Amino acid sequence: MTNVAENLRAVRARIAAACEAAGREADGVALVAVSKRMPSDAIRAAYAAGQRDFGENYVQELVRKRDELADLPEVRFHLIGHLQSNKARLAATLADCIQTVDSVRVVDALGRASEGRARPLQIFIQVNVAGEDSKSGCAPDALARLVAAARTVRHLRLRGLMTVPPAGDPSATRAAFRALAALAAEHELPELSMGMSDDLELAVSEGATLVRVGTAIFGARPTA
Ligand SMILES: *Cc1c(COP(=O)(O)O)cnc(C)c1O
Repeated sequence: MTNVAENLRAVRARIAAACEAAGREADGVALVAVSKRMPSDAIRAAYAAGQRDFGENYVQELVRKRDELADLPEVRFHLIGHLQSNKARLAATLADCIQTVDSVRVVDALGRASEGRARPLQIFIQVNVAGEDSKSGCAPDALARLVAAARTVRHLRLRGLMTVPPAGDPSATRAAFRALAALAAEHELPELSMGMSDDLELAVSEGATLVRVGTAIFGARPTA
């Protein structure tokens, strides 16, 4: 049995140590616990240990978990999987934050879906900084147009940029994190969503304000 509470403590300690090493305040890095493909009971265990922000990749799975977890008043969900514009309306009703906005089409669809919300829908723009074919995210040279579009929509609050870096080679990973930080600075965006179980220290050293950690908290995911 995975001990979620113990794993969470260990991950929080890793974040604190990385902040200390980087000379940053420990409360400057938020933790999103990535619960995709994990049962709702795993989310309950993390919630009981004080975790409030969770990451999900699939809109349909989020539908089910919202329902199963309706009794947890403070749970917040971040959509971190690719979002198609035809799912935007549903996603906007289920998620507190959508981290994978990568086209003007999706910005427009979320804007329409968010009219009349009491609080603005939080978004991050996902950038494919290394230009990998296998990854979603906008190209760096498309970012200015997307940022401008997102900023004109009243019910969206653009928090920052998100990326999934090339895996395997730490120097390529670091370069991707650094490139994302430079783009965020250029557009005066305060937040950087980057860093996962294997590279959160690297991400914090390059300025991450939000890390998305799954395996190190919940253990290996069941295969889909
Ligand atoms: C699955 C996933 C994560 C978590 O990855 P781990 O290696 O399990 O920590 C983070 N971000 C995104 C976008 C993911 O799809």
